[in-house]
Amino acid sequence: MTVITRFAPSPTGYLHIGGARTALFNWLYAKANDGKFLLRIEDTDRERSTEDAVQAIFDGLNWLGIKPDDEPYFQFQRADRHREVVQQMIENGHAFKCYTTQEELTARRDEGEAKRREAKEAIKSGDEARAAELRSEADALLAPYRSPYRDGKQPNDPGSPYVVRLKAPDDGRVEFNDDVQGDVGVDTKNIDDLVLLRADGTPTYMIAVVVDDHDMGVTQVIRGDDHLANTYRQIPIYQAMGWNLPKYAHVPLIHGPDGKKLSKRHGALGVEAYRDMGYLPEGMNNYLLRLGWSHGDDEIIPQDKAIEWFGTDGLGKAPGRLDFDKMKSVNAHYIAQADDDRLCDLLFERDGFAQLSNVEKSRIRSAMSDIKGRAATIEELGNQVQFLLDLRPIEITGKLKKKMSQDALERLSKLTIRFKDLSNWENSALTAEISNFCADEEIGMGMIGPTLRAALTGGAPAPDLGLVLEWLGRDEALSRIKDQLDKVSD
Ligand code: GLU
Repeated sequence: MTVITRFAPSPTGYLHIGGARTALFNWLYAKANDGKFLLRIEDTDRERSTEDAVQAIFDGLNWLGIKPDDEPYFQFQRADRHREVVQQMIENGHAFKCYTTQEELTARRDEGEAKRREAKEAIKSGDEARAAELRSEADALLAPYRSPYRDGKQPNDPGSPYVVRLKAPDDGRVEFNDDVQGDVGVDTKNIDDLVLLRADGTPTYMIAVVVDDHDMGVTQVIRGDDHLANTYRQIPIYQAMGWNLPKYAHVPLIHGPDGKKLSKRHGALGVEAYRDMGYLPEGMNNYLLRLGWSHGDDEIIPQDKAIEWFGTDGLGKAPGRLDFDKMKSVNAHYIAQADDDRLCDLLFERDGFAQLSNVEKSRIRSAMSDIKGRAATIEELGNQVQFLLDLRPIEITGKLKKKMSQDALERLSKLTIRFKDLSNWENSALTAEISNFCADEEIGMGMIGPTLRAALTGGAPAPDLGLVLEWLGRDEALSRIKDQLDKVSD
């Protein structure tokens, strides 16, 4: 049997990181089992399912490199098939037309709540027997709805509008073995005669999901545990149609750093926000994978290993908490490993970098292999290369001014003469020249290093001076130094 998994997002305007993790788990499960991963856009909410909202899902998945193995399915286009199955369920006695109006349902609920309040009053006045009677009436009215039309009752007016409901199982339990939650189940009395087709003939989410999963041949569903209650209601539909259930794994939802369920309050809910912050897709995938799945103590799990190792047995029962420090440290690993040209391309796409001159870009390119180990995101990479941009004349401010005393600048002037004579403008030669200068002048590095650094970078974070000089290139480096020396002679 070919393993088939799916990701079935409802378009909301972005690919939620929880959704991205669900997609990743399903994709990995399919890859790990030589199976197929399918994408189904659950676009039956026509107002929310705009073209942009659907595109945001495609873009998010594409960025993460999670590619479906077939063309995406669109749930709304399958409405006729959903209605066809509902018709079969009516014919085989597992669904029925229900003429109860919305007003009647609301009145039933209101009456139930009123009785519950009355029961509380009865307790206060000491009438226990009356309270018990009212409570049981309230429970019956507020229980999952079982329609009077389920047993063949006919409406007064056969032309009245109706919905089609599932005839929920009468007794027993709905049970299954979940790959994460273990043996779970509910008494069937907790399952309502749920609506399959609305009064306007549109299929509901419950019927659409079951029919689609069945028709797509889905064998394994991995989804958030917020869907567990839906699963109890969907299983009777499978049973009514005599279809095999897929295997289920209901994973705990991601929590925010404060341990509460992830919400807008926590910010950055969509994967595009992480892309914009400069995370790499492989860093994001690795982090999301670990947020709910484990393989021993491994933290860095490249994709080939993830595919080799992934299984539902590694999925945890406790909700993962977003931890931005961890996310950064995982990403830093992938930045350090990434190809220099790729990092440059990603950096040059960003605001403030796209317009750089070719000279600035080539300085950054030459520095990339040494700089990339100092940044956790592309954004941080941007901060790390600031000193390579055209900054002249550099304004020396604050603490650094102390490094620019008359004496210090005289030393810098002497060193510069030696730099000018150098034929080899490379880190090793430049570093050796600085050391020789210190030896000849009988001074420590502290007497020249900070002044040179201030003149070259204005105090921006930067690696060793030899490297800084090399990347800036002879002309730019000597000009930056000259700017500072000229200030004194002015
Ligand atoms: N469309 C549902 C959602 O976005 C998921 C349905 C499912 O996975 O069964 O939450």
